[in-house]
Amino acid sequence: MFKTILIANRGEIACRVARSARAMGVRVVAVYSDADAGAAHVAAADHAVHIGGAAPADSYLRGERIIAAALESGAEAIHPGYGFLSENPEFVEAVEAAGLVFIGPSAAAIRKMGLKDAAKALMQEAGVPVVPGYHGAEQEAEFLAARAAEIGYPVLIKAVAGGGGKGMRLVARGQEFADALASAQSEALGAFGNPAVLIEKYIEHPRHIEVQVFGDGQRAVHLFERDCSLQRRHQKVIEEAPAPGMPEAVRQAMGQAAVRAAEAIGYAGAGTIEFIVDGADGLREDGFWFMEMNTRLQVEHPVTELITGVDLVEWQLRVAAGQPLPLGQEALQINGHAFEARLYAEDVAKGFLPATGTLGHLAFPDGCRADSGVRSGDAISPFYDPMIAKIITHGPSRDIALARMRAALAGTQVAGSVTNLGFLSALCAHEGFAAGQVDTGLIARDQAQLVATAEAQDVDWAQAAAAALGVLGPLPETAGFHLWQPMEHSVVLAHAGHERRVALQVLGADRVLATPDGGAAVCLQRRGAPAAGWQVAGAVLPHWVRLGADVTVFRGAGLCFAVVDPLQRAASGAAAGNVIEAPMPGLVRAVFATPGQRVAAGDRLALLEAMKMEHALLAARDGIVAEVLVAAGAQVEAGAALIRLEDETEEAA
Ligand code: ADP
Ligand code: ADP
Ligand code: MG
Repeated sequence: MFKTILIANRGEIACRVARSARAMGVRVVAVYSDADAGAAHVAAADHAVHIGGAAPADSYLRGERIIAAALESGAEAIHPGYGFLSENPEFVEAVEAAGLVFIGPSAAAIRKMGLKDAAKALMQEAGVPVVPGYHGAEQEAEFLAARAAEIGYPVLIKAVAGGGGKGMRLVARGQEFADALASAQSEALGAFGNPAVLIEKYIEHPRHIEVQVFGDGQRAVHLFERDCSLQRRHQKVIEEAPAPGMPEAVRQAMGQAAVRAAEAIGYAGAGTIEFIVDGADGLREDGFWFMEMNTRLQVEHPVTELITGVDLVEWQLRVAAGQPLPLGQEALQINGHAFEARLYAEDVAKGFLPATGTLGHLAFPDGCRADSGVRSGDAISPFYDPMIAKIITHGPSRDIALARMRAALAGTQVAGSVTNLGFLSALCAHEGFAAGQVDTGLIARDQAQLVATAEAQDVDWAQAAAAALGVLGPLPETAGFHLWQPMEHSVVLAHAGHERRVALQVLGADRVLATPDGGAAVCLQRRGAPAAGWQVAGAVLPHWVRLGADVTVFRGAGLCFAVVDPLQRAASGAAAGNVIEAPMPGLVRAVFATPGQRVAAGDRLALLEAMKMEHALLAARDGIVAEVLVAAGAQVEAGAALIRLEDETEEAA
C-alpha cells in the first residue's frame, strides 16, 4: 500500500477520500487555493500545499503544479476526486510520466469514454444496448434534421463532449429542430470548445439508472444499481440504491451489460455506466440503453457503499496499489436500501440560484451519514460548486431508509445562507416518490408544490423577536442585564419580504409575552431549570441561532428573520428597481439589452455564468434601457451594476 497520497481536489470529496486513506494508515497531502487556506479538506490532511489562486484554472486545474506538489511532499500516488482533473487523460499521462500512480483508470480508457459519440460506437460493438439515434461525424444541419426525422420525435440533441446537462436540447417537433440545434452547438462550443452533437431518441417516462462497476484493468465486477431519476434540469438531486421496482432478471442484465462495457475498455478502478431506462410499464430486460460512462468516483457513490458495505475509496487505493479486486461478483450482495440528498446553498424560490455566504451554524443529526466539506463558520465561496453536504441514510427497507431521510433533513440546521433543505424535505414527502414512482420529469411536473415554502407562524415571529432581544438565554444568569425585570420592548423583523414589529413584555426571567403586529399574543415560558428549554403552550420551541443581525429559527427547513435597523432602511430602496446587478460574482456570458430598448418585466437582459451554471438576469419591471454597463466576457463582482433602466419619471417626461 502507498505510504502517502495527494488528493487533487477540495470540498466534500477531498474530505471523503482523506477519511478512508487515513483509516488505512496512508498519509494524506491536500492541495488548496487562496480561497481554501482554512478549508475543511486542509484540516483533514496530514500536510497541505498551496497551489495558487481561487479560480480553478489558477489552482485545482493546474496539473503540473499539483504533480510538483506531490513530488515535493513525497506522495506516491494522486487521487483526483471527481470534477477538475478526474477525467483528463493528459493529466493521467503527466502523472505517470512523473513516476506517480494515478488512482483511477488509464488515460486510454478515459479517452475511449470521453466523447459520447465514440463511446456509443464502442459500446455497440461490445454488445451493450445504446439509445437509438445518430452518432456519426457528419454535422451539417439539414443532414442532422433528416436523421432526427428518421429517429422520430421527440429527440434529444446532445453535445458529444457534454457533461452536466450542458449543450443538451429536447426537441418535440421538426419545426423546432433548426433553432435547437444552433443553440445546442453554440452552448457546446462555449462550454467544451467542441460544437459536435449527436441525436438520440428521447425515451419517454425516462428513468436514470446507473451501475457502479469496479475493474482491475482486465476483469470487472458490478456493485448493483443506483436510481438517479430525481433530477432538475438533468442534474441529480436525490439518489437511491437499489432502484425501486427492479426485477432481479433486469438487474442481472444491466449488471452484466455494465461489466461488458468496463471490460471492453480494460477499465481499472471505480466507474459508472449510466443507462436511460424506459419506465413506462415496469423495468424490462430490453428496456435499458447505455448513455455514457463516468470514468471516476461518482458524487452519489455513498448509497452504493451503504447497501454493499464496501468502502469504494479503500478499493480504489488497493487496486491502484496493485492488489486484486477485494471481492468477486458472488460475494457482493445488496443489504437494505439507501438514499442520498444533495444539500446546496441555493435560493430555490429564485429559480435555484446558487448562493454564497458564511455558514455561521451547521449541524447534522445522528442517524445519517453527512459527507460535507464545510463546517460551522466556513464560507460557501463563489468560486466552486455550492454544495454544503450530502446527507445519506440507510435502512432495512426503502420505507425505513426514506423515513430516516425525512428525519435527517428535519434535524439538519443551516444558518448563514439560503439552502434547498425545504425543497429536499418536500421531495421526500412527495407521494409518488414515496411509492417508488420515479422518473426524470417528476420534479419539473410538481415543481410548484415542491418549492412552496413553509410560512412563518406568529409563534416563530415571537420566538425570533425574543431571541433578537436576548431574552431566550439558556439560563437566567446568562440572559443578560435588566431584561428580565418587568419591561416592554419592541423589534422590527423582516422575513420572506414581510416586515413586522413584535412587541415584547418581559414578565420575569421565565415568562415573555410577544405580540407580532396584527397577530395574537404568544406566551413564551421557560420550563424546568436549569437546562430545559422554552415552550409555548407546552410545545418545546425549536433550536435557534443568532448571527449578526439574523435570527434563524430551525422550524422546518429553518426560518431566517433579519432584525431591521430603522436607520439603514431609510437609506436604501431609493434607486431600487432601476439597476440590474450581478447577484454573485461571475462571468458575463451574453448581454441582450441595448440602450433605448423597451423591455418588459421578466425579459432576459443578460446571462451570467457562475458556480457551474448559467443564470438569466431579468428585468424587474417594464421600462427603457438607459445604459448597458458591461460587455459579454467581463468578469464581475457581486453587486456590480450591469444594466440601468431609465427612471420611471425620466421616461414619463
Ligand atoms: P455525478 O455524475 O457524479 O453525480 P454531478 O452530475 O453532480 O456528478 O456533477 C457533474 C460534474 O460536475 C461532475 O462530473 C464533476 O465533474 C462536476 N462537479 C460536481 N461537483 C463538483 C465540485 N464540488 N467540485 C468540482 N466539480 C464538481
Ligand atoms: P451528462 O453528460 O450531461 O450527464 P447524459 O447523457 O448523462 O449527460 O444525460 C443527462 C440526463 O439527461 C440523464 O440523466 C437523463 O435524465 C436525460 N437523458 C439523457 N438521454 C436521454 C434520452 N435519450 N431520453 C430521455 N432522457 C435522457
Ligand atoms: Mg450523465
